[in-house]
Amino acid sequence: MHSQCFSILKGKGTPKFKNADFKQFIYDIEKLYKSCELCERKCKVNRFIEKGFCRATAKAKIFGAHAHYGEEPELIPSGTLFFAGCNLQCVYCQNAPHSVTPELGDEWSDRQIAEWIDKCKCKNINFVTPDCYLLNIVGALKNVKANIPVVWNSSSYYSEKTAELIKEIVDLYLLDFRYFDNKCATKLSSAPNYAEAAKRNHLIACRNGDLIIRVLVMPNHTDCCAKPILRWIKDNLGENTRVNILEQYHPAYRANKYPEINRRLTMKEYSDVVSYAKKIGLKNLV
Ligand code: SF4
Ligand SMILES: [Zn+2]
Repeated sequence: MHSQCFSILKGKGTPKFKNADFKQFIYDIEKLYKSCELCERKCKVNRFIEKGFCRATAKAKIFGAHAHYGEEPELIPSGTLFFAGCNLQCVYCQNAPHSVTPELGDEWSDRQIAEWIDKCKCKNINFVTPDCYLLNIVGALKNVKANIPVVWNSSSYYSEKTAELIKEIVDLYLLDFRYFDNKCATKLSSAPNYAEAAKRNHLIACRNGDLIIRVLVMPNHTDCCAKPILRWIKDNLGENTRVNILEQYHPAYRANKYPEINRRLTMKEYSDVVSYAKKIGLKNLV
């Protein structure tokens, strides 16, 4: 199993995008946009002229850009760019309405993104919900002068083609592993086959960069999702995998229509999941 060293975050080594073959890369991504398969939805729309499930176009829409001090300790300060629009539709989304209405974001050109990255003076550039915007991300990185590592902060519902492409530019994968049961994923995020996609993408990520996994514990989803996810991580990625078990869930957006998640997590639910992680031997919890 790949051992995570996080040396790129300590200023050792060169960020991957500095060695990327941008010409070929952009050609490949444009091809993917013309019949969009950036994520598991595989809408097959031409993103240059029409919209798929996520409603993102080929132009980057951003609703937040700042140095973030609330990320995992090794990442801060993290230069976070929040993309508007998302390929998941979580009924409890904390970033709605921007996540569901990309039109609410501000349009940024690739050059604007690059300039912001060059000026942000952070330890890394953290692309949040990047899945629908790979072309803009790569177009921006092509113009970035700073030697700054790239963080791919995603819900893990991107396609295998995207997973293969981003190996060229991503130094650290910051991945949500949200559901282990596809019934839960379908009901709460309209994401059938989420579990298979997330497993595959975590395995590819682990082989190709540093990895931090976020497990958001949700009420009444500890036995069907949180615990089996932790067990899978331990068995497939190893006991030293960096895992952040998040207790911050709160019902937002349309969660009031789903009684089982329409409350905060109890201390007992959270501590039970953390104890389980320790019991099965996960040693690198945030
Ligand atoms: S990014 Fe995903 S949801 Fe958006 S158009 Fe492409 S395949 Fe569809
Ligand atoms: Zn569940």
